[in-house]
Amino acid sequence: MKVSEAFLLHKIEYGEADYILSLFTKDFGKISGLAKHAKRSRKRFGGRLEPFVHLRVRFREKPGGIKFIEDSETIQVFSTIMQDVDLFMYGSFILENVGILLPEEDPNEKMFNLLVETLSALDSKKSPSSVILKFQLSALSLSGYEPNFDACVECKNLIEQEGFFSIQRGGIVCNECENNKSNGFRISNDFLLAQRDWMKRQQNFLNHELKDPLEYIKLLVKFTQYRTGKEIKSSKFLEELRND
Ligand SMILES: [Zn+2]
Repeated sequence: MKVSEAFLLHKIEYGEADYILSLFTKDFGKISGLAKHAKRSRKRFGGRLEPFVHLRVRFREKPGGIKFIEDSETIQVFSTIMQDVDLFMYGSFILENVGILLPEEDPNEKMFNLLVETLSALDSKKSPSSVILKFQLSALSLSGYEPNFDACVECKNLIEQEGFFSIQRGGIVCNECENNKSNGFRISNDFLLAQRDWMKRQQNFLNHELKDPLEYIKLLVKFTQYRTGKEIKSSKFLEELRND
């Protein structure tokens, strides 16, 4: 029997009584498994198979790799996220990003810790857009998709003040190289300062006041979709938000 901390990414009903679960586990990465009789078993699963519950799960693996989720217990419930519509949307967006960025069965403990940290921050109602933006940058970095904000992707010169972003080239383009193309997304000096501090983990979520964090969040959604080839369905709610 294997044991790990975990979050539910999604569940599908299977037959009368079972669920197929996709879980992000701390020790084994993203896994899928069958939770037999999970709909009825209060004792083994209770109401715990929900998003935003930090779980400890036990599972066994049959030869051939099929996994059976045996039971779960609760470590922590992020109840504010569950009860607040906006936070619920932000939280769903975070979980979907994790699901998209991670391959199956590739342990990523730093990503797990980032998820706990991010949900904790959301649950305590810290400025959601800063929390989301920092999460996106960190998660892209931890999954090997990190955009390059340090040097121009064309001429390799270091970027000091500001520039433009090229989704296709995977990073920032200096003013000289952008020259007359003018279709790039403008990256401000404020954002570069925040990004550099966040990536070095010197600053907490609130030390940088960006002028329009939502525009950067949307840019990174497009970048994530382009790099992974997958749609982030929960990102649609971002269109209805204004910068907070
Ligand atoms: Zn350049």
